[in-house]
Amino acid sequence: KLGNETVKAELGRATWKYFHTVMARFPETPTEDQKEALRSYIYLFARLYPCGECAEHFMQHLSKYPPQVSSRNAASGWACFVHNEVNAMLDKPEFDCTNLGEFYDCGCGEDDEEGKG
Ligand code: FAD
Repeated sequence: KLGNETVKAELGRATWKYFHTVMARFPETPTEDQKEALRSYIYLFARLYPCGECAEHFMQHLSKYPPQVSSRNAASGWACFVHNEVNAMLDKPEFDCTNLGEFYDCGCGEDDEEGKG
């Protein structure tokens, strides 16, 4: 079966939105257990990404730029950086990572702020 670039791009957009939102909700000062959870999640995310060619590329990025999980800031900045690596590979413009701010909002309010990670 032929690949479908439109469908692949749609999956990519949905996934990046989710991926960056996970980082935006990661605790500012995570416990060792929360850091380990995020690290494992990122490696499994890469391994299980549905587009096999994308997964392979992304795993290469991971081995070059290991996940940063020490804080929300570190994780969000790292995710922005690796997404930019994918952007560069695909000849897409670089995203300004200083503009991350409130860009990725889960819509879930403050109530469960520290419950994640
Ligand atoms: P996307 O790159 O999907 O970005 C969506 C939105 O996120 C942008 O509109 C912008 O608002 C924001 N954004 C952009 N850059 C950043 C950043 N650095 N940090 C935070 N937010 C940002 N496609 C392939 O053809 N080949 C591949 O090998 C491939 N590998 C992929 C690997 C992974 C893990 C993922 C999730 C996707 C991959 N894709 C790949 C899909 C590709 O990255 C895009 O998602 C797809 O091409 C659609 O691009 P887009 O221009 O709509 O914006």
